Amino acid sequence: MEGKADLHTHTTYSDGVLSPYELIKKAHESGVEVLGITDHDSVGAIANSVEISSEFGVEIVPGVELSAVIEDREIHILGYLFDYKNKNLLDYLTFFRKERVKRAERIVEKLNNINVPLKFESVMEKAGSAAVGRPHIANALLDEGLTTSYIEAFSKYIGYGGPAYEKKYSLSPEDTISLIASSGGLSFLAHPGKYTTDAVLLSLIKDGLDGIEVVHPSHPPEKILHYRNVVGQYFLLESGGSDFHGGKRNDDDVLGSYLVPLAWVEEMKKRLF
Ligand code: AMP
Ligand code: ZN
Ligand code: FE
Ligand code: FE
Repeated sequence: MEGKADLHTHTTYSDGVLSPYELIKKAHESGVEVLGITDHDSVGAIANSVEISSEFGVEIVPGVELSAVIEDREIHILGYLFDYKNKNLLDYLTFFRKERVKRAERIVEKLNNINVPLKFESVMEKAGSAAVGRPHIANALLDEGLTTSYIEAFSKYIGYGGPAYEKKYSLSPEDTISLIASSGGLSFLAHPGKYTTDAVLLSLIKDGLDGIEVVHPSHPPEKILHYRNVVGQYFLLESGGSDFHGGKRNDDDVLGSYLVPLAWVEEMKKRLF
């Protein structure tokens, strides 16, 4: 896919390692002209990013990545181009972040119960004021020598189905899509190739999904083709990006490698007009 837009990235406001400034700088150096910042449950990076982006000639697309549960599985929904000062949206995001802290506490408790002596404080130290997530827990486990790698923290303990796995609070897909729509934005299903059956995808389209993230590091060419066909069939929009987080994930190479056409962003704006 030839393009200049990366519509899926994370900063220190969630589980990314770079500050908004560092991310925009690095994205610019990687050939990104339009950058979607999509922190989990936070829009804290957006206002400042919009302000500083002109220094690099980069356009910021306001975004957020929310979690929802369908058929007992977690899916991620990306919101774009909403009013990031919308009071109702901000209230919900604050609530989600508070629930994340409680869930991190439950995960640490589970770890302690299986004799992994991780301290809650070391997790919160990693997270700072960000939306705390399992990547912070994985990094804390790694730093304290309680796991041999970032990936092992997930496969052995905190990954889906693992002994210290805990769900986080989330809305239904329908309510998530409504929340984004009520603040003026568009909803996209994130990285469907990771978990979504076509039946689930159809039910999300019925719930009012606006588009599908067709380009993502987890999508091989045949999946991209498949989702682009679905997009065409249901008159949806398409998006894509690197899902860059940085740091111990060693995903530095994805930035600049999952770019999508600027025309896709124009289509998104047209749909909102
Ligand atoms: P959370 O929002 O706290 O559930 O954390 C989700 C993040 O953890 C995602 O952005 C993933 O990148 C990461 N993650 C989830 N499962 C795994 C896994 N099995 N291996 C590596 N990273 C994972
Ligand atoms: Zn993340
Ligand atoms: Fe995700
Ligand atoms: Fe993401």
